[in-house]
Amino acid sequence: MLWEEFNKSDAVENIIRILKEYKKRITIMEVCGTHTMAIAKFGIKSILPKNIRLISGPGCPVCVTPVEIIDEIIKLSKIKDVIITTYGDMIKVPGSNSDESLERRKAEGADIRVVYSPMDALEIAKKNSDKEIVFIGIGFETTAPNSAVAVETAINEEIKNFSLFSIHKRVEPVLRHIINMDNFEVNGFLCPGNVAVIIGEEGFEFLVKEYKIPSVICGFEAGDIIYSIYRLSEMIKNNTPFLENEYIRAVKKKGNEKAKAAIDNYFEFCDDLWRGIGFIKNSGYKLKNEYSDFDATKKFSIELKTCDYTGLCRCGDVIKGKIEPFECEFFSRICTPENPLGPCMVSSEGACASEYKYSRMR
Ligand code: SF4
Ligand code: SF4
Repeated sequence: MLWEEFNKSDAVENIIRILKEYKKRITIMEVCGTHTMAIAKFGIKSILPKNIRLISGPGCPVCVTPVEIIDEIIKLSKIKDVIITTYGDMIKVPGSNSDESLERRKAEGADIRVVYSPMDALEIAKKNSDKEIVFIGIGFETTAPNSAVAVETAINEEIKNFSLFSIHKRVEPVLRHIINMDNFEVNGFLCPGNVAVIIGEEGFEFLVKEYKIPSVICGFEAGDIIYSIYRLSEMIKNNTPFLENEYIRAVKKKGNEKAKAAIDNYFEFCDDLWRGIGFIKNSGYKLKNEYSDFDATKKFSIELKTCDYTGLCRCGDVIKGKIEPFECEFFSRICTPENPLGPCMVSSEGACASEYKYSRMR
């Protein structure tokens, strides 16, 4: 069923009426940061019955980046003639020293540039042949293909002063990890439509085949989300777990073969550290050895840690769905977008940032 049909208020009202007839307690995890922000923006929690609980998941790559990685990027920014290029959300995240962030380094004179794609970073590399340009490749399967194409272009055009610091992550291993945690109590998953565009419906089949958890691949309009919650509630109520693709207008069964091939050609799986969650086997993407000339971790001898220090911030509990942002004792008191303790408060789709922004507007 297309979302347009559910973007009409009478259809939405009808769904809400049906949802209100349920009495069972239902917990649904929205895996993706983009869903978290859309849920807050459209006020979806406020129109759902109280027994349907929506919790955030580990789907914002900024939020799951360990502080140790932020520290390494800050260190890189202190090397002479290095230009750091990154997506905008990263620059406000504090390192283990809360006085340090890329934004502060920029104010101190470091060359840090916000880009919209790794191809912009390549352009910067071409214009600054006397400098080393490092692109911070962040994101899940959605953005990894762009990083792969940038490396391919750098090879083809012999741009030798470009390297990728890959902190790309994979969705499947972290979902398996969360499902296997003690006290896991999620009844259904709202799966990220943007990741599914790349890995396809089949990338999420394991949720139902192996774990029997109802799951819906969901788009990002209010109608998409409400309809998907309705379908999840039906499946949970009737104990009929399926994987449904509500985002059929963008997601195919097998996803985007070209983008998947780009990832496979340049990356291999690596064990990776997730903020507040821990070290998860095969959950990251690193460049294959044959491309080590373009791998910033090799070029700058960056040693990646296997153990995470989270400090005071409770982002880890937020992205595991253990607490709501307002249950963190620092929320909106010590921790604000101007003075963040953790990435959830500064990422444009972080759970704490969206709660902070939209709870004030309600
Ligand atoms: S906030 Fe940025 S990094 Fe996080 S999910 Fe959204 S786009 Fe991705
Ligand atoms: S409110 Fe701040 S300290 Fe608490 S979890 Fe969110 S980002 Fe971390």
